[in-house]
Amino acid sequence: MALTTTLSERIARISFSRTMEVAGKADQLRRQGEDVVDLGVGEPDFPTPDHIKEAAYEAIRSDFTRYTPAAGIPELRQAVCERHAADFGTSYSPAQCLITAGGKHAVYNFVETLVNPGDEVIIPAPYWVTYRDAVLLAGGQPVILPTDASDGFALRASAVQKRLSPRSRMLILNFPNNPSGALLNREEAARLVELAVEAGFWILADECYAQLVYDGKPFSIASSPGASRCVLVAGSLSKAYAMTGWRIGYGLGPETVIQGCIRLQSHSTSNPNSIAQKAALAALRGPQDCVAAMLSEYRRRRDYVVGRLRAMPGITVHEPGGAFYAFPKIAALLGHKGVSTSADFAERLLNEMRVACVPGEAFGVEGHVRLSFAASRQELERGLDRFEEFVARLWR
Ligand code: GLU
Repeated sequence: MALTTTLSERIARISFSRTMEVAGKADQLRRQGEDVVDLGVGEPDFPTPDHIKEAAYEAIRSDFTRYTPAAGIPELRQAVCERHAADFGTSYSPAQCLITAGGKHAVYNFVETLVNPGDEVIIPAPYWVTYRDAVLLAGGQPVILPTDASDGFALRASAVQKRLSPRSRMLILNFPNNPSGALLNREEAARLVELAVEAGFWILADECYAQLVYDGKPFSIASSPGASRCVLVAGSLSKAYAMTGWRIGYGLGPETVIQGCIRLQSHSTSNPNSIAQKAALAALRGPQDCVAAMLSEYRRRRDYVVGRLRAMPGITVHEPGGAFYAFPKIAALLGHKGVSTSADFAERLLNEMRVACVPGEAFGVEGHVRLSFAASRQELERGLDRFEEFVARLWR
């Protein structure tokens, strides 16, 4: 039989990550010598704090360069549980924790471990780009639940309830939300947990931005009463500690589910990088003032970006309560000068003004674009000057 290059049905169902695609395009243009302002991918511009890097140098010097247990080193699993307890008042034990190669990997592990072909997974929109594809890869059926921009993209348990069916297996939450910056209200979180226990579905909470909250105290749905029965946490060190390239995340949840994830991990990646695990240990156990310092700079940038966007004709923007993205509505500009979708807008902005952003359509919401403000003040100023000029051109 002839050898074909037809991809498996699983891979044919998914597409390349849109955030990664934008990052790749911006990088390619820069390599060609173009002056690109990259407000596309969400990645802290801060270097990893020195005490974290020191722990990695020390790991190399002391030859901590071999396999570790597939689930991660016990002291790091313990440290994750302790940090989560200190930050959010939960009480996970190390057996309910596994270390992953980034937060995305924790999401992937949980979905693979729990979702069967045909199972429905409710994904509120706007959603982070990867959830839909992770569900499709597992053969599940994504059920997209739109939230309303005029309501600040708030998620209501009553809206989730209306989408439940006998096939509902999971609800994927992401608060603070990427891309909108919306927060989850504590009362709604408690209702969602009640609903999950009653109807029998899992809540997968992606807490990648849980430490980056501007308004009020950071909060985890895993601290809601009854959460230990139905909540799974996918966490990451990438954003809070400026450690994107180190690829360290974690999963928290009932031991049986964690064991399933570890089984999968033992056949896929094995352990996350041993040196990065030592660095992660220093991040979680060391001084936390670096997180607070970065957060206050993000807050200043948020205020600047929101102020600038609100001064532009036809643009409205909800003030992000957390994370480091602004998700302005550009719908009033569509239909002008051949720009008819958010993807056209983003493409023209990159081609004509050399500013990278991600179209709202990638997050399941047309008529918006996402701008990351995890960029220096100077870059933000340059990027927003160009953005403003582009908006003016569309109106002209
Ligand atoms: N989470 C970041 C973003 O949304 C990084 C890119 C990614 O991992 O998809 O831009």
